Amino acid sequence: MNRICIVEDEPELAALVADYVRAASYVPEVFNDGALALDAIRRAPPALVVLDLMLPGLDGLALCRALRAFSQVPVIMVTARVEEIDRLLGLDAGADDYLCKPFSPRELVARIKAILRRAAMSNHAPAPALLVDTDARRALVHGQALALTPSEFEVLAALARRPGQVFTRAHLLDLLRQGDLEVTERAIDSHVKNLRRKIDAAAPGLEPIRSIYGLGYRLDL
Ligand code: CA
Repeated sequence: MNRICIVEDEPELAALVADYVRAASYVPEVFNDGALALDAIRRAPPALVVLDLMLPGLDGLALCRALRAFSQVPVIMVTARVEEIDRLLGLDAGADDYLCKPFSPRELVARIKAILRRAAMSNHAPAPALLVDTDARRALVHGQALALTPSEFEVLAALARRPGQVFTRAHLLDLLRQGDLEVTERAIDSHVKNLRRKIDAAAPGLEPIRSIYGLGYRLDL
């Protein structure tokens, strides 16, 4: 049974949402306080969190961010004003979906189902052989981090931005050239050679970087 954590300080709304969630065969857990909810989620992660933005104490935005430090649990953020949604998107609050009050509980349940369906599908998908995490500036092969130089990482990250697209050496050079750093097209070849060696060492036979004769390189994922 999927537990749905409902963080809402209006008791009537919380009870109404809980009723609909229960009717959809989920198990609702209601919290009227952000800090208590965070604590409970940390101890026993639910399948999904419905999170009101305006809460006494720890508000929804702070809670969502605190949550993201340790969990990828799906979050539906509920706001009182539609303009808030734009602001939250801009702040990169970390929620998976947003809903504005007043909302129909039916609509909320439909969104919960859609998100859980999506999450179930992605859980069944195999982990990607090669994952380039540009935020953390690291590349993982089957979950194992590669030890790359900054230039090697830049070349790989550039290719990974558009898998399947051919990048010429000159284009890669442009993307790589910061300040007056002396980089030549031959250096690109050497970075690619090192990348291939390191990727092959981590996953023998994995050859995602293709040479396109006369043009450049392409990443096939
Ligand atoms: Ca509220």
